[in-house]
Amino acid sequence: MPEAAVKRVEIKSAERLRALMRDYFLDLDAAAASDERRVAWCTSVGPCEILSAFGFATYFPENHGALLGARRLSHELIPRAAGIGYCPESCSYMNSDIGCALSGRSPLRDVYGIEGPPKPDLLVYSTNQCREVQDWFEFFGRREGVPSLGIRPPRHLGEVTPEHVALVRRELVDLIGQIEGRFGLVLDSDRLEEAVRLSSRASALWGEVLATARARPAPLTFWDGAVHMAPVVLMRGSRAAIDYYETLLSEMCQRVTSGAGAVPRERWRIYWEGMPIWPRLRELSEKFQSLRASVVASTYCNSWAFAPYAGGDPLEWMARTSIEIFINRDEVTKQAFLVDMVRRFEIDGVIFHNARTCPNNTNSRFGMPQRLREGLELPVLVIDGDLSDLRFFSTAQTMTNLEAFVEQLEGGAR
Ligand code: SF4
Repeated sequence: MPEAAVKRVEIKSAERLRALMRDYFLDLDAAAASDERRVAWCTSVGPCEILSAFGFATYFPENHGALLGARRLSHELIPRAAGIGYCPESCSYMNSDIGCALSGRSPLRDVYGIEGPPKPDLLVYSTNQCREVQDWFEFFGRREGVPSLGIRPPRHLGEVTPEHVALVRRELVDLIGQIEGRFGLVLDSDRLEEAVRLSSRASALWGEVLATARARPAPLTFWDGAVHMAPVVLMRGSRAAIDYYETLLSEMCQRVTSGAGAVPRERWRIYWEGMPIWPRLRELSEKFQSLRASVVASTYCNSWAFAPYAGGDPLEWMARTSIEIFINRDEVTKQAFLVDMVRRFEIDGVIFHNARTCPNNTNSRFGMPQRLREGLELPVLVIDGDLSDLRFFSTAQTMTNLEAFVEQLEGGAR
């Protein structure tokens, strides 16, 4: 039953995260204004280590898309993109980001005091997550008159073979050649290896942070993870991300030792499959807390916990990492991952988010919820919604469904 009085335990490292994010955006803004520095835009699991090694300040538009969602601006901005021919049912990150550029105002002004996203010198995408990022970046390539380059790895893989890795590695080599040719640069292989080492270390620490939620009670939830994952997405080739996750990990380990849960008196342990619903993150977090349900693990947050780099060819690690990610796998591999997560985190029930404008990061459309329910004998709920666009989300309906779901857990029903 709902317990509205249960108090949320704040994560102390959040203050440091805010400072880190501020420094990151101010540095990007300074890089864009400087004649000596260059800015590259990159997709979230794109080849950012190459860009760092070339010395580009790297910016990730998906983060801006999430910010537009969290600030509940998407419904005003998406029609601007629709007005120039972008289907309003396509990716709401893309549409709201394009709409934001057309409207000329960004929440980055309120949050960090900068006018908006840094002007790019180069855009680099990987379609390992979706083709939408290619169209998104090509819009900005045309608008800003800068190159939009990318790699197009093989999609929806079961087993990742040496041939797949070799193919993507060749794409990365070709990308490096194009950047060298267009900007008159030469890639320093030591710098690339250093960027990969830092990236892998940040990613490993992030994975360790998420793994602390195996404890009962879990010291952090998906709602915390959705916020604290920012450095591993935006700064993963940097020392700053490593320092941050060492601090956060230490705080989470202390919580585990002292038995402090993110949800006091945690009763149920939930898995979240799919994108966050950014405009309703706080309401959902509070709802789960009132139900004493801790969302202890998610596919989304784990998407940046890569296999470690153990030395050797950094491009091979990048190639393998870019195609091994969950979103790029076939249905059988995804299901095996979810089953493993359910067991490792001792999950009582699974929630799938059917994000209407992101079929790529939605896994409830081809029978997966039913297969998990039957295979694991676990309650499973599918929520309709979207990462940003509130046209597709009913708060009242969802909250009612969540209450019924937790009652199902209490009744031991499957
Ligand atoms: S994965 Fe989904 S949310 Fe992300 S860019 Fe692609 S379509 Fe948009």
